Amino acid sequence: MQIIKNLVEKHYDSIVSLRRHFHTYPELSTQEFNTQQRILEELSALGLTPRKMAGTGVIAKLQGALPGKTIAIRADIDALELQDECGKPYQSQNPGVCHACGHDGHTAMLIGVAKTLVELKDRLAGTIIFLFQPSEECFPGGAALMVEEGALADVDAIIGTHLWQSLSAGTSGISYNRMMASPDSFTITIKGRGGHGSMPHQTVDALLVGAQVVTALHTIISRNIDPLEQAVLSIGSFKSGDTFNIIPDTATLIGTVRSFTMDIKKIVFDRMEQIVSGICLAAGATFQIDKNLGFPPVINNPQIAEVFANASVETLGAENTLTIDPVMGGEDFSVYLEKVPGAFIFIGTGNKDKGIIYPQHHPKFDIDEKALAYGTETMVRAALKLSSSKENFKR
Ligand SMILES: [Zn+2]
Ligand SMILES: [Zn+2]
Repeated sequence: MQIIKNLVEKHYDSIVSLRRHFHTYPELSTQEFNTQQRILEELSALGLTPRKMAGTGVIAKLQGALPGKTIAIRADIDALELQDECGKPYQSQNPGVCHACGHDGHTAMLIGVAKTLVELKDRLAGTIIFLFQPSEECFPGGAALMVEEGALADVDAIIGTHLWQSLSAGTSGISYNRMMASPDSFTITIKGRGGHGSMPHQTVDALLVGAQVVTALHTIISRNIDPLEQAVLSIGSFKSGDTFNIIPDTATLIGTVRSFTMDIKKIVFDRMEQIVSGICLAAGATFQIDKNLGFPPVINNPQIAEVFANASVETLGAENTLTIDPVMGGEDFSVYLEKVPGAFIFIGTGNKDKGIIYPQHHPKFDIDEKALAYGTETMVRAALKLSSSKENFKR
């Protein structure tokens, strides 16, 4: 349908300027007040009756002229605690806050999807629910609150998009099963007995115990997990001691675990407990492990992923619609997928020729804005296909 491409093209400039507006004025998780206000205004101007949800989120409904299914489309709207160094005219005006994950684009695209679908209302079968979700970048994430407040009432299926730097603009990536991992974090606190650096025999060196723990934890994935499974354990922080002549009595390790199943998650955390306990016992130290279990994994429904992929084929061509391996990053889109069938797609934003090479969460992160048109068109096409589908979607 050429009409969809034409409509998205018509709205492209406004989608870009919305994205730049959100990029210039980013807001942190749970504080997206101005973003929320702007979304409400944009949707109201379309004749919709949006309302606030989950604190700083927004929900709106578009009823088509024909009967059909109810399809939700979700965008996350929050920014990161990071100083923007993109160097563009739309660089963040809010010090220390930056849209370095592309959620500015997600918000603008979903408004663009609403603008396009409103114009197609007469031929729309079914109902579209627009979900603008706050707080994706923090635990426990805004998705759970959206669901709690009824975002998925009567919804038959849900779709969502992430702008994705490691894919080139003009391509998309989707998986028919595992798409993104479950992200957990942990803090291990080791207590020894501090003392003089010259008298180690009188101490229990927490730093040395910590170092052994760091090394040993790295054997969990390589020795305890089936090599054909997917799992990651990374330690991102190791703090112990302050100066040259004091043996520290405490060591603190902070890290993350990524996995796709509860079984794998359990093996990793069970082994962590055994390893830390064994090393501390041998050294005469004590320990505490605090786990912060994050979102479930994003597992795409194959049926809906196929519809989404077809929408991408019509937008970008078959050669640019890539089947990808799962990534170990996490996303609370998974919270919706626990309730209703759905699928998540990556829309490529990288472009070496334009210098758009910095990864997500980098201070110089930026997107090739062409991707905004591709993402909008792909979502519009997928929503139309799904809402008019006669198939039964199974979770
Ligand atoms: Zn992010
Ligand atoms: Zn993100």
